Amino acid sequence: MREYQVKELIDRETIERRIAEVAKEIERDYAGKNPIMAVVLKGGFVFAADLLRSIDTPFTVDFIGASSYEGTQSTGDIKITKDLDNPITGRHIILVEDIVDSGLTLYNLGEVLRKRGALSVKIATLLIKKIDRPFPLDVDYFGFEIPDEFVVGWGLDYNERHRGLPFVGYVEFTED
Ligand code: 5GP
Repeated sequence: MREYQVKELIDRETIERRIAEVAKEIERDYAGKNPIMAVVLKGGFVFAADLLRSIDTPFTVDFIGASSYEGTQSTGDIKITKDLDNPITGRHIILVEDIVDSGLTLYNLGEVLRKRGALSVKIATLLIKKIDRPFPLDVDYFGFEIPDEFVVGWGLDYNERHRGLPFVGYVEFTED
């Protein structure tokens, strides 16, 4: 494997402060609506743990895993690897994700959940990459917009490493 270093991009205090702000936005918008907070596995679990502890209105927690098929640009190609446990008909859903890159997986997931009868599907992500997307993706709640770099920490991995880092960092490969 190529040698690399992880360089800090966003520090712990800044992340914690911002997540508390996002939580208050969600709390305001969903008061009395009892949404399903659908944590997208695996990376979404750390952000979700912080976010949910700061939301002071009732919600249901559930988990979902999905992957878009490799190499496709088209929408609709999605494989659900772990489905929600709760019925979703007539429920508001918030997909809690670590990062939105192309957004393809979340876009497809939203379509699937709406077809299944969800009342609404919104996205809450810690990070969103500043890139042009070929399809419309509404990201309702986000922590930080970041440059198009590969990042790790706060739930995000590189080959299953670094999910526990208490900051968000970018991977810098060292020349060999
Ligand atoms: P998308 O469907 O938005 O292109 O990407 C979905 C998934 O790719 C994310 O949930 C995340 O797991 C992974 N991913 C995208 N960008 C990054 C990144 O910069 N770092 C890490 N660790 N994972 C990423």
